[in-house]
Amino acid sequence: MKNSAFAMPGAETLARFAAITGERHALSDPAAMAPYLSEWRDKYVGRAAMVLRPGSVEEVSQILALANDRRVAIVPQGGNTGLVGGQVPFEEGNEVVVSLGRLNRILSIDAQGNTLTAQAGCTLAAIQHAAQEAGRLFPLSLGSEGSCQIGGNLATNAGGVAVLSFGNAREQVLGLEVVLADGRVWDGLRSLRKDNTGYDLKQLFVGSEGTLGIITAAVLKLRPRPRSRETAFAGVKTPRAAIALLQRAQEDFGAGVTSFELMARIGLDFTLRHLAGARDPLNEKWPWYVLLEVSSGDSQETARRRVEALLYEAMEAGEAGDVFLAQSQAQGEALWRLRTAMSEVQKHEGGSIKHDVSVPVAAIPEFLEQAGKQIEELVPGARPVPFGHLGDGNLHYNVSQPEGADKEAFLARWEEVSAAIHDLVAGHNGSISAEHGIGRMKRDLLPGVKSVVEMEMMRALKRTFDPRGILNPGKLL
Ligand code: FAD
Ligand code: ZN
Repeated sequence: MKNSAFAMPGAETLARFAAITGERHALSDPAAMAPYLSEWRDKYVGRAAMVLRPGSVEEVSQILALANDRRVAIVPQGGNTGLVGGQVPFEEGNEVVVSLGRLNRILSIDAQGNTLTAQAGCTLAAIQHAAQEAGRLFPLSLGSEGSCQIGGNLATNAGGVAVLSFGNAREQVLGLEVVLADGRVWDGLRSLRKDNTGYDLKQLFVGSEGTLGIITAAVLKLRPRPRSRETAFAGVKTPRAAIALLQRAQEDFGAGVTSFELMARIGLDFTLRHLAGARDPLNEKWPWYVLLEVSSGDSQETARRRVEALLYEAMEAGEAGDVFLAQSQAQGEALWRLRTAMSEVQKHEGGSIKHDVSVPVAAIPEFLEQAGKQIEELVPGARPVPFGHLGDGNLHYNVSQPEGADKEAFLARWEEVSAAIHDLVAGHNGSISAEHGIGRMKRDLLPGVKSVVEMEMMRALKRTFDPRGILNPGKLL
């Protein structure tokens, strides 16, 4: 794909960009730029005229002012873990990547007010850690947390494994600092819980995928740190049984059910095969598994007793076949690894056609049945590997190639397979992007799932915030 609407920036413009960050942080050597031009799956490999690594909000501001003046296309980049290609430049080489990684300071923590203010380039793990040190919890949690950045999390409105109880990235933010397309800086770093003074501007930038402004800092909400956290792994016969277990858990613990993840047996098989040290916590094999986490203010003893009672009742009711309750933090982490390794281990099984869809929770069993049939008809032998955040109705409906099949030939059928899955999703009033965003991958699908009025409102916002269209052109819209 190309982005020919923008000219190649000339040597003089590039020299001016480099003068803003200093030569050391203005990369133009192909080898130095390479890590910023592709993502970990190598699904998208782009080119760029330059990669800039600004060290301050003033530098970001100067970069955008110059880019706007000279009409240079800018690709904002955080930790480069996005799964829809939004952070990778196109193949033409006329864009400038602005990588936020040097803006990595925690600016302040207010434990009493339960807020943390951080620069956009802080990794999610660094923010979780800082919250923990202050005796608080920052609940956002994703498989990529060691490298994704809070700016990227907000720009993509990331979800993850704790949305069930705490909401997605959108719900963790109180204020933002954003550099606008023309270089103006909006200081919206407010920490108020209540501020009913008109349009909620910060929320426009959340989920905007780098198309409306560059987020440079954020005020985030912290939560009390739970006294206890119980992690259990349950073998279940059907997705329907898993939903019954979810309901039982929520009746007992309410919002204390912080994660409820579903995984098909084939997913566990992949993990056991490809993740060093992984072992099946249960003696028998089950068609489906649930990873359940309950957090509470109860003492560990009380919490364990309550979760044991829940699991016992679920087994009595036939909702859970067999269960394993972690007896230590290390065991809990080992259970989590079985789930978080899911993205990685599929790579070892050849080509994988990926979906990030949501449907109403009650529709999940039917969707899974229909999707399985569709795949078998379209690509006999292809192996669906559904897993995801059952409590949110969000499935990563991935499909691995048939064993021994040709990887490229299988991947060539991506659009056909996706169209079938997305049709099913539409039939259940679901979404074709539950948490990963639109980026480049789903851009052309967007008008098909949004009304004309919705597309018009989105385009109007884009024109207003970025009249010259320099911010991440060709992504999202
Ligand atoms: P990038 O990938 O660098 O950028 C993503 C988008 O945001 C791009 O459009 C970019 O232009 C824009 N952007 C980045 N920083 C800024 C900024 N400061 N200002 C403006 N725009 C910006 N996602 C989930 O939602 N849930 C999951 O459970 C989940 N699990 C994952 C597991 C793995 C193993 C991996 C690799 C990814 C996973 N993801 C998940 C996807 C990804 O981690 C998230 O989308 C994450 O929020 C992206 O953050 P990032 O810093 O890497 O952003
Ligand atoms: Zn996910």
